[in-house]
Amino acid sequence: MRGAVWICDIGPGPGQHGGELLFSGPVHDFFAAGRSAGSHEGTPRSRTAAFLARAERPPRPAARRPGDGLLLLRGAARHNLQGLDVAFLARAFNVVTGVSGAGKSSLVEELIERAGRGALEASPRVTKLIAVDQSPIGRTPRSNPATYTGLSDVVRDLLAATPEAVGRGFGKGRFSFNVAGGRCEACGGAGVQEVGMHFLGRVDVVCDACGGRRFNDETLEIRYRGLNIHDLLETTIEEAQVVLGGDGRAARILSTLNRLGLGYLRLGQPSTSLSGGEAQRIKLASELSRPGRGHTVYVLDEPTSGLHAADVAVLLSALDGLVEQGHTVITIEHHLDVVRAADRVIDLGPGGGPHGGQLVAIGTPEELAACEASVTGAALRGGGNGAVPTAVAAGLPRPDPAATARPITFTGVRTHNLQGIDVTIPPGQVTVVTGVSGSGKSSLAFDTLYAEGRNRFVESFSAYARRFLDKPGDAEFDQVSGLTPAVAIRQGRPSRNPRSTVATMTEIGDYYRLLFARIGQRDAGKAGSRQPAVGSDSSPRRDACDLLPTAYRLPPAATVHLTASMFSPNTEQGACTACKGLGTIVECDPTRLVTEPSRPLDAGAMDGHKAGRFYGDPFGQHVATLRSAGRARGMDFSGPWVELAPGARHLALRGAGDEEFDVEWEFKRGARTGVQRFRSRWVGFAGLVEEEYARKHADHRGEALEPLMHRVGCRACGGTRLKPERLAVRVAGRHIAAWLALTVDEGLRLLAAIARDPDGAGLSPRDALVSRDLRDEVERRLMRLQEAGVGYLTLDREAATLSAGEAQRIRLA
Ligand SMILES: [Zn+2]
Ligand SMILES: [Zn+2]
Repeated sequence: MRGAVWICDIGPGPGQHGGELLFSGPVHDFFAAGRSAGSHEGTPRSRTAAFLARAERPPRPAARRPGDGLLLLRGAARHNLQGLDVAFLARAFNVVTGVSGAGKSSLVEELIERAGRGALEASPRVTKLIAVDQSPIGRTPRSNPATYTGLSDVVRDLLAATPEAVGRGFGKGRFSFNVAGGRCEACGGAGVQEVGMHFLGRVDVVCDACGGRRFNDETLEIRYRGLNIHDLLETTIEEAQVVLGGDGRAARILSTLNRLGLGYLRLGQPSTSLSGGEAQRIKLASELSRPGRGHTVYVLDEPTSGLHAADVAVLLSALDGLVEQGHTVITIEHHLDVVRAADRVIDLGPGGGPHGGQLVAIGTPEELAACEASVTGAALRGGGNGAVPTAVAAGLPRPDPAATARPITFTGVRTHNLQGIDVTIPPGQVTVVTGVSGSGKSSLAFDTLYAEGRNRFVESFSAYARRFLDKPGDAEFDQVSGLTPAVAIRQGRPSRNPRSTVATMTEIGDYYRLLFARIGQRDAGKAGSRQPAVGSDSSPRRDACDLLPTAYRLPPAATVHLTASMFSPNTEQGACTACKGLGTIVECDPTRLVTEPSRPLDAGAMDGHKAGRFYGDPFGQHVATLRSAGRARGMDFSGPWVELAPGARHLALRGAGDEEFDVEWEFKRGARTGVQRFRSRWVGFAGLVEEEYARKHADHRGEALEPLMHRVGCRACGGTRLKPERLAVRVAGRHIAAWLALTVDEGLRLLAAIARDPDGAGLSPRDALVSRDLRDEVERRLMRLQEAGVGYLTLDREAATLSAGEAQRIRLA
């Protein structure tokens, strides 16, 4: 927060007590607001400001507890631990600190593992060890705080005990959405139904039958203190204390949850929507609400992660309560307020990986603060709160990243083919990764640096949100430090979709279509002539999403509504019918069909391909038809292809249109011969191949003909992809294909000319006004392309023909 320029603070409390914008402004003013917290005039409602200004902080224990006995770990050598002997204080609050990779998790894992096999030296004896981590409390929306803590059991007992339920013979199973009986069977108690949406994947829609209430009507008629099972699951923990507080079990669980700052959660809130920190506190609450017997050791891994400073105080008092009950708490933690609250700090280091694994200091926070060698000690001396400072110094204004950031250091990188390399990348500078193809450049830059940066960023989201993010492959390395969230601009492969162009990649095409829908003028023949628009006196809608039709008068007095989709080659309304909006068509290439030009057509000229051999069969019906057409036109096809006149070649390849010929086909099939007479058109050999391709190209058989085909510009639309009537609509004297055919540089010059003199460019004052936002947006986007160095590209350039570098620069823009 101290590194930010602008702060938005929301609150003041959680759940229904929050949701207000408390502050939005420069970080300076926010701190000023926090500092005035003590004075009577400006007590801020923002607890964040108060904490940052240190007007509020968790209470520190008056004295350190001496503990009662020890938990001894001798010769701990897991991972990088260097044979450590560590003594934790029993019945006290222990915090394990140290830089990333120092061995904190290894030490705690070793402790858990030894306790698990009864090999932990401890006095008093450890009755139970409970590790509370941040993993989700359930992976389905069916688990929730109530099911995890056992509250749902209490709620079902209470409902089943009502006279109404007893009278109807409803047992407690009636009030579970996990078993048949009381639940809504239409959705199986989920409250939602999954619907396949083709391109959008699967979505959940609220169940029609129960309206999302998850139970059937008879079940919902049973009420406890006026609330049915659905109402009860919808109440917050805080509200439930009032409704269910009369029940001893419920009261214990609810007050624990509330004490841990979770009062705003709903009892039935799906576990998939909880953050890792919330999940950990629910687990903790569930442990805390069970009356502890004997000596229990609680192990927590960074319980403050994701917690607000105000919530840290709540957590600390809950942990303190455990110690007061005679239990031992051990946490791994960076948060200085937690470290300060410890009875014993175990500081590992001094560095990470092979440079760590040693015991730097052990003692009270005061003793640690006096230890010169300890990074944590230095942070404690600094008197700050929040986490042990890493990159961001506490100074204002915003620190220069290059001056304060640490280098990014990876050691032992083994991602893909990398051979355990160590890499340091200086901050605030340009670093180039070089090497021959396949040497591992991408493995380092993308699959290690970027992937790990993204993984860490993603971990801050709730388990629910994480489901929607694809996870980049796991990077393999020993240690990393200084890592920040990373942004990758990959070269990628340009789109293979022939409909993808520079205009579609940049969305400028969408803006052009909106422009044409809004102010396009039907051209009566000569460029620049305009027809007045119908209804132009009514005030035009100005929102950017204005895709609604605008009416124009067209000659001869016909009215059509121009819409943006009419100018898209990817809609039926806009696409040229001949090429279906592709701008090109696939044709048979004569040079690929006639492979042996020195031979006659009926004697092997087309033998290079199976289809050519079939059509060129001297005893086949196609050669018979060609001969008949030739006779009618006075042409002879018995000579070699190269010697045929251009007219004869055209007839052989492209046919004779709709004219029909009498054909006498002397056929020969095996031993059988005969004559068949019929009337037929002659479409030409290329035409025959194209007909066959059109029949088959939808399936794999079409592939067999691919070698004979090539792609040529569509003659019907001249490659513009659009229907002729769409090309008759103009803006500034140009149809949309002409706009798209301009380079980025030319487009900017045209827009500038229009802005200078709308009337001269053919825009009425009204058109100029209603198109201004659109033109400005297009201009901004074109300028970004120009700045990215691709001003020479035309907008209709197919993405597939771009170089990788060009595609990358377009994406960057
Ligand atoms: Zn339902
Ligand atoms: Zn076309």
